[in-house]
Amino acid sequence: MKIITSIFDLNKEIKNYKNIGFVPTMGGIHKGHISLIKASQKKKRKTIVSIFVNPTQFNKTIDFKKYPRDIKKDIISLKKLNVNYLFLPTTKDIYKFKARKFVLSKKDKILCAKFRKGHFEGVLNVMNRLMSVVKSKDLFMGEKDYQQLYLIRKLLSKKFDVRINACPTIRTADKIALSTRNKLLNKKSLEKASHVAKLLIKIKKKSKLHSSKFKLDLSDYRVELEKKFNIKIDYLEFRDEKSLQLNNLKNKFRLFVAYNINKIRLIDNF
Ligand code: AMP
Repeated sequence: MKIITSIFDLNKEIKNYKNIGFVPTMGGIHKGHISLIKASQKKKRKTIVSIFVNPTQFNKTIDFKKYPRDIKKDIISLKKLNVNYLFLPTTKDIYKFKARKFVLSKKDKILCAKFRKGHFEGVLNVMNRLMSVVKSKDLFMGEKDYQQLYLIRKLLSKKFDVRINACPTIRTADKIALSTRNKLLNKKSLEKASHVAKLLIKIKKKSKLHSSKFKLDLSDYRVELEKKFNIKIDYLEFRDEKSLQLNNLKNKFRLFVAYNINKIRLIDNF
């Protein structure tokens, strides 16, 4: 595996690879990331993984500082997976050139965009920069971050003529969606997160069974979850898979949640 730490070196290294698969990450490599890498390797001859903890997408400095980082361990994991390139850019390099600024429309200021001001503007900014330097035609991203996937598809896929390969969420045996942030949770919080995930899976199942009769109003569940597990829910909503608008249960839909447990914010969808 070649480790590339500058855009200059990246340009030299990968300019001849037209069909390189790109897996952007913020590190703390886990089985969720690994599933994206494997999906890329299945389709492509070469795969490039980036690790860059992007400061502009954190709306709280403390959150950025606390974000788990373990680059040595990540390098070992990625080598074992036979990843061809690991791109480890510096903040200076990524932000040194001029690039478009993104502003979300009113319609898109929902879910995490409503609760984490500036987060997706930061995500779109860095993805625009990363995609313009990596120039991959195949991007691999997780459904775990569904709204991120939706916005990148909507605002960046045409510009870069890129295929966005959406990969399903990988969970632990007790249903917790894998996430680098889980490293910040203690045992008790992990147990709670597992209970929350299991209950939300049940609600989703129930909504499918009852279809149109099922109440879209989830406020009772919300109160129950908050009380039972001492969590603070930002949102708990059924939304359309394609448009992310509140769902009428006629089309395919997902149950989206974001909550704070012991000051750690988790997101998921079912
Ligand atoms: P992150 O390092 O958290 O920014 O994630 C990098 C990529 O991995 C994003 O496309 C995420 O959606 C994806 N990802 C993170 N967690 C999971 C998971 N549990 N299952 C599948 N993909 C994931």
